[in-house]
Parts: sequence; C-alpha cells; structure tokens
Amino acid sequence: MDEFSLINKIKPNYYRQSSLIKGVGDDAAVFRETQENLVTATDIFVEDIHFSRKTMNAEQIGYRLLAVNLSDLAAMGSHPLFYLVSIVVPNAWKDEVPRIFAGMEELAKKYKMDLIGGDTVSGNQLIISMNVIGKAKRNKVRYRSSAKPSDIVFVTGTLGDSMAGLCILQNKTHCKNINYFINRHRYPRPRIEFALQLQNIDRIALNDISDGLASEAAEIATASKLDIMIEPSLIPTSEYFIQFSKDKQYKWKLYGGEDFELLGVTSPANWNDVLKAAKQTNTPVQKIGYADRQERDDTSSVYLIEDGKKKMIKNRGYTHLT
Ligand code: ADP
Ligand code: MG
Repeated sequence: MDEFSLINKIKPNYYRQSSLIKGVGDDAAVFRETQENLVTATDIFVEDIHFSRKTMNAEQIGYRLLAVNLSDLAAMGSHPLFYLVSIVVPNAWKDEVPRIFAGMEELAKKYKMDLIGGDTVSGNQLIISMNVIGKAKRNKVRYRSSAKPSDIVFVTGTLGDSMAGLCILQNKTHCKNINYFINRHRYPRPRIEFALQLQNIDRIALNDISDGLASEAAEIATASKLDIMIEPSLIPTSEYFIQFSKDKQYKWKLYGGEDFELLGVTSPANWNDVLKAAKQTNTPVQKIGYADRQERDDTSSVYLIEDGKKKMIKNRGYTHLT
C-alpha cells in the first residue's frame, strides 16, 4: 500500500462538525472560527516507548491515542471538535495502519469528532503524532494556575488500575480480575462529559492524570504557587485493587499514571456543583486533600498526610528524559 492509497483508505467519507469547510484532500483543512476559545493539544507516541504490539493490537493503539488526547481537552474544560494525525509507517506496520485509524474512529464517533488532516511518511519506527482541536467558553477554560489556598482537592474514578493492567500485560504481576485491569489500561475513559458539566463553576483547576497523581498535583501546585496536601488513605481505588501488596497499591495509586482521570482543585463553595456534575454524568468523585499557602518561600510542594504527619513528596513519578 503506497502513501496515496493509504490516505484514501483513512480519509473520512463524511464529516460531523458543521463548522468544517474543508477536511482531508487539500493542502490544509479549513474550519470556521467560533465565538468561543479554540483549544488545541498534541501528543506524540513512539512504538515501544508509549505503546507496544506485545500489549495492544492496532485498533487498541488508535483508540488509546485519541483517548489520551481527549483527556487533555477534558482537563481544559473543552468540547472536542477535530483531530489530525501524522504518522511514520515502517514496512511491518503498513497493512495495519487503517486499523489504527479505525480504533480512533470508534471513539471519535462518540464525540462527533472529525479527522481533518495529517501527514504520512515511511520510516523505520512506528511514530504517531496526534493533534486535537476543541472549543471552550471564554471564561470557562480550566487552567492549572487557578487554584487557591483552602481549595478542595479531588479526583474522578479510581487510580492505579492502568498501571496494574500494564504490569499484568508485561507479565510482571499475576492476579484475579485480569480483564478489568487490562481494559482500564487499554481503554482509558476521558472525562469529557464531567468536565463540560462544570459550566456553573467560575473557577476550577483541572489536570488529567497521565504521569501519576503526585506529578499532576505538583504541576497544579507550581502553576498556582501553593502547596497541595494529599491524604493517601482517601485516594479512591477499585474493588479488585485490594489484592495487590500494600507497597504496590501505594505506588500505583500515587505514582502509577495513565489512568487519565481528572485531578481537580476548587473552592469549597463550588463543591456542591462538582457533586451535581458528577451525579449527572455518572462520574465518581472523591475529595483527597486541600490546597494551602506555600510553606517554603517561592517553592511549591506536594505533601502526604499520614498518621497525622506531613511528608513532602520528592520524587514525582514517571518523567521522560531523566
Ligand atoms: P501535502 O503534500 O499537500 O502535504 P499530502 O499528500 O501529504 O498533502 O496529504 C493529502 C491530504 O491527506 C491532506 O489533506 C492531508 O491533511 C491528508 N493526510 C495525509 N496524511 C494523513 C493522515 N495520516 N491522517 C489524516 N489525513 C492525512
Ligand atoms: Mg504532506
């Protein structure tokens, strides 16, 4: 399959967004500007670093890539519109590339998103770069910098499941309820509906949990110039999670990452509206701590509160380039 027949194969037959003027097929895509803010995010995925043939098939890879990008849009309080995909295709993957796009389409359909462009080249390693575009009401974009001291810190869903799933897939862990954990890893659920249901709230900081709770909390703390206190015993985990050793549970829920749940920080006055949005969208939410003034001058920290003691987190979890 050459580049052109591949593009023909992945080219959408129809588009869902009425603001789209030109999708795939010209030098660039065109859509109408809206009254709202446009929000865009990109993620790049490299085989054997971000995903592996050993743990996921082509459709699952595609699905997960879009889910991960949608999670960034959710964390900005943004409504998804379009996506673009640039792909480096090695020979060994050629025939499977349309299946990667089919996996994306499965999730795109749910959010009425359109694939409107990209680039396709051949190379030695499968690399996929995805760009998503969304929109958000002007004063309802959810910045990390908007948290204030005394705010409530909460998370959606359960944490640690994705890391457990990955360990099972890599044969590093054996346990019961294998399929539950594997699916949590393969099919992250971006919290778009919940994030969009928070429209009554004037101020809320959101961050999606890709690198682990500790790391995301540190990002909000730094952007908002404050400290964040977390009570590990309050971090929600799934009913099957209890079978793992105490040590694994602790590491995975705090530093595991890739759960793509949301971490939120908002004033206690907004908490009822958060609960309402959670109920309307069937999203579990759980308070896990609070924000406080910086204890050390000009330095933001994340602290764990255990047995009445405060302990500063030094290692934030997984980071690239270290
Ligand atoms: P150009 O040479 O002008 O960049 P291309 O031949 O690369 O155009 O692409 C032709 C059309 O196909 C463009 O609209 C481009 O956005 C689209 N396209 C190419 N690769 C992809 C891809 N991987 N996913 C989606 N659309 C793609
Ligand atoms: Mg091109």
